[in-house]
Formats: sequence, C-alpha cells, structure tokens
Amino acid sequence: MTPAPPAVPNILTIDVEDWYHLSGEQIRGHGTLRPDILARQLDRLLGLLARHDCRATFFCLGGSLGNSPELVRQIAAAGHEIGTHGWGHQSIARLGLPAFREDLLRSVKWLQDLLGRPVLGYRAPAFSVTRDQLDGFCEICLEAGLAYDSSIFPIRGRRYGIPAMPTAPYVIHDAGGRRLVEIPLSTVEWRGRRYPVAGGGYWRILPAWAIGRIITRLNHAGCPMVTYLHPYEFDSQRLSATMAAGWSLRSLKHQLKQNLNRRSMYAKLDAILSVYRFAPAEEYLRDPGRFPPHGPGAGLL
Ligand SMILES: [Zn+2]
Repeated sequence: MTPAPPAVPNILTIDVEDWYHLSGEQIRGHGTLRPDILARQLDRLLGLLARHDCRATFFCLGGSLGNSPELVRQIAAAGHEIGTHGWGHQSIARLGLPAFREDLLRSVKWLQDLLGRPVLGYRAPAFSVTRDQLDGFCEICLEAGLAYDSSIFPIRGRRYGIPAMPTAPYVIHDAGGRRLVEIPLSTVEWRGRRYPVAGGGYWRILPAWAIGRIITRLNHAGCPMVTYLHPYEFDSQRLSATMAAGWSLRSLKHQLKQNLNRRSMYAKLDAILSVYRFAPAEEYLRDPGRFPPHGPGAGLL
C-alpha cells in the first residue's frame, strides 16, 4: 500500500453494541445481554489499537453497556473518545423525533454522569436519520450539547442514506452561532454511483490493499476515511445467532452473513493501521484550521 498524504488524518470510529443482545431482539423480539462476550471482543480490538498507538472514537450504546460501566471506563482509560450511539438502537425514522430526543438525552446523561466530561458526538443506529427529519434532528443534537454528528451516509441505499449530501465533513446546522458539524461516512464514486465503503460488508469482503487504495484516493481529494467498525467484527470466536436467538432459518441466515469473511478483519485493520494515520473525530475537529473562524461547538472543543 502507498502511504497516504500525512496532512489528512482519517477518522476511526467504532459502534460499541452487544451483538448477542441485538441479534436476539432483531430475530425473535428479545435478547440476552452478554457482557462477557462483549468484553472479549473489546479486549482484542483495544489491544490491536494499543499496538498501533492509535486512538479512536467509540460510540457506546446505552442498551448494551448501561449495566457494564466498567467496559466504558476501560475504553476511556485507554485514551479513546467516548461518543454516544443512543440508548435503544431503534431506527430514528421509525421512532420519530420526540422519542429520538428522549433516547439521545438519556444516553448523553448516562455517559456524562459516568465519565464526568461532555459527550461531543453521536452515531445513529443504522444511519437511520431521514432527510425530512434533519432540521429537528440537528436541533436536538445541539440541545444535547453535541458538537458533531456522524450518522449520514450520502448515498441512495436500500435501507439507509441521504443522497446528494456532502461527502466530506461540514457544518450542517448553525443556530445563531451554535454549530453542529456533520462527519459523513465515507463513500467512493464509481461509474456515477456512490458506494458506502466505510465498513460493514465492504470492509469484510475487500482485501486490505483495496481498502488502502480507497483511503489514498479519499485523502488525495482532501477527505478523511471515516469508518464504522464494531467490536463483534474482531471476536476471536464464531458469532452464533442460534445462541442469541435459537434455531430458525432467520438465525442461520444472520449467522452466515455476519461471519462471512469476518475473521479477516483483525489482520486487515492491523495492515491498514501500519500505513495510514487514524484519529478520533474530536481530534480531527480540534484542528483550528478545520472549521474557521471559531470551530464547531462554540467553545465545547
Ligand atoms: Zn449500531
């Protein structure tokens, strides 16, 4: 892989959630928390990042970690930024803005009480904010004290995405000087279409050299690569949806899909971090030249 231009740091973000709990909820309507498994996954990922002296943003889900404050403290103690992934992992499109507001404020209060410092960033479950909701959504983010959001995939996707939105970080909302920055998830254009190359199936299937080329291409255009990865993608053991939700065709399909090439993720991220510089979102935003004249969040950062 060719080294990226050093002027553009990339942004490494991790959505921290309990795969077993969410898979149970998704497949049969209820799930069981497995903090022991989440701890195993986190240990492996945190170890990999520590070896590269790389810090990241961890968007923590209240419904997964509310009973495991030690896991959030462990991530923070390793020097990473803690952002919020909300509380319940329901789609904002389906929740509607009033219920989203409750969910977000609950999660921000939980993290701020736990860590004793402001939470600056949010990642919506499954990038589920819609275009019609954007104004109200941004107002609620500012009300919660956030400086940035990272929930918009500027694509026309089957399940998510707001097409034709900017592909590099920008100020999305300015309410009389209180500004909210949007850090969109990375996309690349190919033959007139945008592809969501920030994580998920793309990272599981593409080889490290191909992801490296995408990062170089983005960096040459002045854009950071903005990822979304998950601790479960780094589990040393096979993910078992039948353990999470019992035996059914849906469980088996989910299990097959989620394990497909998943074990390559550790070596892939290892290879990418040896070449490219990644930082937490807050570090990217703190650069005084990034959003002149006063930077986002008016004094929060
Ligand atoms: Zn999530």
